[in-house]
Amino acid sequence: MEFQMSMTQQAVTTALPAIEFFSSVVEISPGARAKAWSMPALSDAVRRGRGALAGLIRGEGLYPVFQPIVSLRDGSIYAHEALIRGPQDTALHTPDALLTAAAQEGLNFEFENHCVIAACQRWGKLVEAGRLFVNISAEVLVQILEQYGRAALLELINGFGVLPRKLVFEITEYQRVADMDHLARMVRELRSAGVAIALDDFGDGRSSLRLWSQVRPEFVKIDKYFTKNLSQHADKLKTIQALQQIGALFETALVAEGIETEDDLRLLRDLGIDCGQGYFLGRPALLPREQIEAGALAVMRDRRVAVFPELRRASQSGVLSRIALLDAPTVTPSTSNDELVALFLNHKKLHAVAVVDGHRPVGIINRSNFMNEYSKLYYREVWGKKPCLVHANLASRLIERNHNVDELIGILTSDDQRYLTDGFIVTENGRYVGLGTGEQLVRSVTETRIEAARHANPLTFLPGNIPISQHIERLLAGGAEFVACYADLNNFKPFNDQYGYWRGDEMIRLLARLALAHCDPKRDFVGHVGGDDFIILYQSADWQQQCQNIVSEFAARAVDLFDEAARAAGGIHAEDRHGVSRFFPLTTLSIGAVRIRSDEYASAEQVASVAARAKHEAKTARSGFLVLESAEVSSC
Ligand code: C2E
Ligand code: MG
Ligand code: MG
Repeated sequence: MEFQMSMTQQAVTTALPAIEFFSSVVEISPGARAKAWSMPALSDAVRRGRGALAGLIRGEGLYPVFQPIVSLRDGSIYAHEALIRGPQDTALHTPDALLTAAAQEGLNFEFENHCVIAACQRWGKLVEAGRLFVNISAEVLVQILEQYGRAALLELINGFGVLPRKLVFEITEYQRVADMDHLARMVRELRSAGVAIALDDFGDGRSSLRLWSQVRPEFVKIDKYFTKNLSQHADKLKTIQALQQIGALFETALVAEGIETEDDLRLLRDLGIDCGQGYFLGRPALLPREQIEAGALAVMRDRRVAVFPELRRASQSGVLSRIALLDAPTVTPSTSNDELVALFLNHKKLHAVAVVDGHRPVGIINRSNFMNEYSKLYYREVWGKKPCLVHANLASRLIERNHNVDELIGILTSDDQRYLTDGFIVTENGRYVGLGTGEQLVRSVTETRIEAARHANPLTFLPGNIPISQHIERLLAGGAEFVACYADLNNFKPFNDQYGYWRGDEMIRLLARLALAHCDPKRDFVGHVGGDDFIILYQSADWQQQCQNIVSEFAARAVDLFDEAARAAGGIHAEDRHGVSRFFPLTTLSIGAVRIRSDEYASAEQVASVAARAKHEAKTARSGFLVLESAEVSSC
């Protein structure tokens, strides 16, 4: 009967102040299997404690506040987290100060228990039907379960009128746990009674992926470091996406903590994060909330889609391991010139050979250089038996197999062209594994660059075709209404031919700058398809005005890129596509726009093609800016 409170006991205990429950919880004699939780006495440590925290616990000076945890699907309040507070305007108001005092006064266990009980009791008194998240360190949770058992804990919670299935223990400080298996067992036991588990502050530098995998918590709360200014940090975004993948694997819902701005909320919503928490949604308060803050609600109801920050992918490229290695024979430092010539004659395609001492490469011998020497008069007679090492380039390039191809560009641009002709030696952990050729390297670097350019244009650093398509897909999936614009220069080719690529690039960069300047980076997306083709995806209401501004500002600024005479003449004489010289007016910009309703388009490709059509119309109409209306679109 020790674990089970009678109905009368329950009724009594529910009416008792938190401190009485607390005191019973902390009356622990080590090794005791179970204790009744309704004993009214305070623990010795608290009763005798001289510290300020002990005083607060005795005097019921601690109380919980509640912060909403919000479903990012619809903005409804999913749960509240209880956060403990000490008396207002005192040094012990914040949980951090209270936790420090608890450690100093040796009351960690007592304090944390008190918090759980205070939270549950208050929640019960408020007759709240919603879910309650309660913080507890892994250490104390284990202690409670070990010393009192699951049944007693559940009984206590029930006694406050809180259903176990509405309760979530947010485990903090789990990184300190030495015996993870034990914690995982304890937690599983608790969960079998309906209580859910969250890992708090995941990713704060001490989190454990192993614990996530072992405990399989219902929730993982992503540390606020990753949500802060998320909309400006592509690396944080990628990290959260990676956590989402793990979450999907382990069937864990994610809660993003510390949402403070509209932009971060919009982005997390669009990423499909399950829940969010933060000042922007609702600050901790004495009473639970019915609804989130108005500004947050407006974001949740707004269909406009966030623009994801882009990684500078140009630097992310393939590794050397993709290059097929030549499984070339090697020679040792003592191999003779005669032996080497035999080797080259046996391997007709071998452009070079590595000199390897044991597993360690020491140099490379170029075939044609060596053969030239060897074929000289009397060479074989005089030098044939001598070691071939004299012919080796001892400053040859040794490259580890997992090297980034981009970093090898130095080889291609190096003054010492032996690297191109001799190729390079590939190693794995310093051991010879094969030879690579300069030609392979050139091909690989080029392929990598082309692939990178599909992500980010190397000239403007604007997103390329892949992110453009991804963004359109997101707009369509989010049901957003937006405007797809396609911008293209008129008479750019003659300008480029006349003034050269450098000035041509300047003109393209000018267009990129103007497009960016006339966009709201949080709502609108500028992509560089290639050459002088740009896509702008507007969600801003003033898109027409912005497009017109881009066109007119471009016309005003582009003239500066022409020389005096061309400016005076209003254009240049150049050859047309048929080689006939004719007059071309100064370069101008055309933008074709089309309003997109997501339900009318099935793919990014369709959107891109109507936008291209709009551009075509704009150019033929010799109009700077043209909007293709729906009727015209459907006839396309
Ligand atoms: P936590 O569990 O991660 O709680 C979230 C903390 O972030 C709270 O601080 C909350 O007020 C704060 N917060 C919420 N939204 C935002 C935001 O948008 N921006 C920023 N910068 N902060 C935000 P608080 O209440 O000071 O609590 C600090 C920590 O103390 C908690 O972190 C938790 O680890 C611990 N703690 C709080 N209450 C309890 C408790 O009852 N028991 C135990 N064991 N620990 C508690
Ligand atoms: Mg927490
Ligand atoms: Mg937290």
